[in-house]
Amino acid sequence: MKNYIPKNDLLKNRTILVTGAGAGIGKAVAIAYAKYGAQVILLGRTADKLQAVCHQIQAAGYPAATPVVFDLNSNCYADYVAVATQIENNFYPLYGLVHNAGLLGERKSVGEYSPEVWAEVMQVNVNAQFLLTRALLPLLRKNENGSVIFTSSNVGIQGRANWGAYCVSKFATEGLAQLLADEEKQLSSLRINTINPGRVRTAMRAQAYPDEDPMSLVSPQEVVLTYLYLMDGDNSGITGQRINAQN
Ligand code: NDP
Repeated sequence: MKNYIPKNDLLKNRTILVTGAGAGIGKAVAIAYAKYGAQVILLGRTADKLQAVCHQIQAAGYPAATPVVFDLNSNCYADYVAVATQIENNFYPLYGLVHNAGLLGERKSVGEYSPEVWAEVMQVNVNAQFLLTRALLPLLRKNENGSVIFTSSNVGIQGRANWGAYCVSKFATEGLAQLLADEEKQLSSLRINTINPGRVRTAMRAQAYPDEDPMSLVSPQEVVLTYLYLMDGDNSGITGQRINAQN
């Protein structure tokens, strides 16, 4: 993976949906996919941010991206099915899905944690991933070697004080990815993997560590190679893996 060099037309004619594509890591991943030829669907809750990314992709001369304004705090399955129908009717077969959107929630102990914030973090970071995956699986399975990427964290494998619902949501994400990878081995050629981005200079990181020097962190652009690697159809045997983007 370290010496991986993506081919220029790696994602030509591939449709890929990236959640949380209006900012941070999701934005950098979406632009990188477009650079390598993908038709990217940018899903997020803030229309202005998605439009700005679309314009950036257009200005660079990459294939046009499409914004889908959608609040993952919705637990209405019909809303997710509507997104799937929109994709099925308007795009090449959906090749890839990156579950990137996430909420940090509170940095408090379990004893002090707001039940409302807990529910929202679990909805956006876990339940929405299930609902979106469930709705999109029939489309994703139609491709040879399609790819689903989940986003975890260091606190997704080792619990740490005061990380609250975020920590639990990342453990659940790891579980969902493992479960799905094991199931899809029997059912399709779909690859399911998890990326731990490591410490990256984004709004979420600044919220979690307000006293940290942001310039001590890598930029979102510096972690996109792993996302390209796992979207590469030549890596057909890679599924059920957890990859650290900064190793
Ligand atoms: P950002 O806060 O920069 O970006 C998060 C994205 O998720 C934003 O685009 C945000 O949209 C979107 N989002 C949040 N809530 C919703 C919602 N209800 N519906 C739709 N979209 C939503 O964070 P990062 O880029 O840092 O994080 C990306 C992923 O990487 C997350 O899963 C995070 O847990 C993970 N990660 C990040 C690390 C880091 O150091 N940065 C380390 C380890 C993991 P909007 O901007 O409109 O609010």
